Amino acid sequence: MDSFHQDIQSSSNSMKILTNSTLSMMTSSSSSTATTTTTTTTTSSSRYENQKRRDWNTFGQYLKNHRPPLSLSRCSGAHVLEFLRYLDQFGKTKVHTTICPFYGHPNPPAPCPCPLKQAWGSLDALIGRLRAAYEENGGQPEANPFGARAVRLYLREVRDLQSKARGVSYEKKKRKRPQELQQQLFGAPPGDTRMPP
Ligand SMILES: [Zn+2]
Repeated sequence: MDSFHQDIQSSSNSMKILTNSTLSMMTSSSSSTATTTTTTTTTSSSRYENQKRRDWNTFGQYLKNHRPPLSLSRCSGAHVLEFLRYLDQFGKTKVHTTICPFYGHPNPPAPCPCPLKQAWGSLDALIGRLRAAYEENGGQPEANPFGARAVRLYLREVRDLQSKARGVSYEKKKRKRPQELQQQLFGAPPGDTRMPP
């Protein structure tokens, strides 16, 4: 009777030890998998979402500080342009004036007094995020001030001015290349349309 009781006890003890070690192995392995999963889910999409939220808050602050006060529902494309021009004071992109000797120079050899502005690419991306945020926050697409024609025209103008002033082409070259290559490889050279006799 006594020995039987002992047997059970010892076997249940060893079971406990086994369970404990398996458990700790399992928890350690599962926690390491969890860490890997969290690091891989921090992708560019969540970075975009965070940036969009920050931009939306910045614009909200801008409306709050606006004199005279401005509500989102009364916000027009003209107000968005005002906001973009206001942002230029925080810009870090040198945009040469037409009288600057480095106008059109992509890598100026010396400093110059030309103003720093927001780069066209940053403004274009910002407007895209704010346009999406406006509709996600209950705004009607047809009333979206970030999609206004005036904003589109302004961005196009900024792009043209900056590409000339900085000597930087914003055209998407990657799309053009295969076509150009194809023309070189398969297209007939210009002027050579005569048939052989
Ligand atoms: Zn300059």
